Amino acid sequence: MSFLEIAGVSKSFGPNTVLHGFDLAVEKGEFVTFLGPSGCGKTTMLRIVAGFETASRGTVRIDGQDVTGLAPNARRIGMVFQAYALFPNMTVADNVAFGLKVAGVPKAERRTRVEDMLRLIGLPRIADRYPYQLSGGQQQRVALARAIAPRPRVLLLDEPLSALDAKIRVSLRTEIRDLQRELGITTIFVTHDQEEALSMSDRIVVMSDGRIEQVGIPFEIYNHPRTRFVASFVGTLGLLKGEVAHGGRVIIDGQEIEADAGAARPGETVTLALRPEALSLQASRERSNALRGEITSVAFLGSVVRLRARFGRDELLIDTFNDPAAPPPGHGAAVAVHFSPADVLCLGAEPGGP
Ligand code: ATP
Repeated sequence: MSFLEIAGVSKSFGPNTVLHGFDLAVEKGEFVTFLGPSGCGKTTMLRIVAGFETASRGTVRIDGQDVTGLAPNARRIGMVFQAYALFPNMTVADNVAFGLKVAGVPKAERRTRVEDMLRLIGLPRIADRYPYQLSGGQQQRVALARAIAPRPRVLLLDEPLSALDAKIRVSLRTEIRDLQRELGITTIFVTHDQEEALSMSDRIVVMSDGRIEQVGIPFEIYNHPRTRFVASFVGTLGLLKGEVAHGGRVIIDGQEIEADAGAARPGETVTLALRPEALSLQASRERSNALRGEITSVAFLGSVVRLRARFGRDELLIDTFNDPAAPPPGHGAAVAVHFSPADVLCLGAEPGGP
């Protein structure tokens, strides 16, 4: 039995069903992310685990205990929200001590636990400050300390980084993950940011329209998307329409190349998807699998140069490493783009394929 078990959870608001039989087992100490576009049901599922929302059907078990009918405060769960939900009229110390006080932890122990927590989040000297005297990043660290101080069984994080500026967001990703690992606390993290999900999670649950599309480690989700939705939502993809030829070949913009067309038969139309990093510009010599096209834009990003090239009606993004000795091709340049047939994701003839 897993530490956290969500079984057959459905949720309707009036006639609107927003979760359809959600099943998930999370192991103790695991960091699992719900990833999906706005409105797909991530927050609703998280709130059902927390007890702020009741499931229309299904059960939630934590450490073998059925908590489906329990009030939020009886579940021993910690939660951090997107907006800083600190009590504005309380000091940092009182904010962090709040859950401990509610749980009846004696004053002396509360003080040591608060000190420990503030040290843990790297802010040992701000105990007497008020939330308005803190930066956004500091407030979210305090919110995290407040959530974990009562030693919850499960930590629920609802887009805790999305209100912060880019630099803090990236450094807090690592801080949250390090802390979570150190404490070994089972965590569910909600985000619509694929980079956050890929960089932080043990496993990602990709959701769309109240359903799970795929569950897997970041490597699997990125490299082996099982549905068209996952392929296009996670990472950047260029799409090329082609016609299946014989012998594992596809014709794109009048050029025949090698690509696995899956179950599609000769004459059928398929969509081939390619990640920008799977493509390389071919130098002077012709290589076997290359498409000739024309550069339509060049974005110099520093270590990477992102090119856009047109092949007939479709365009692909191509990431190349910056080479100080070789400037990238300019707008309008004729190029040949090479890729390995193994890097092509064939999205099939019908929508919804992979
Ligand atoms: P976001 O990233 O925008 O928060 P989400 O994936 O977390 O999106 P939810 O907030 O879970 O999505 O919402 C899922 C669906 O349920 C949405 O269509 C939303 O409008 C609907 N919904 C959520 N809460 C309620 C409610 N209390 N009453 C009615 N509909 C609701």
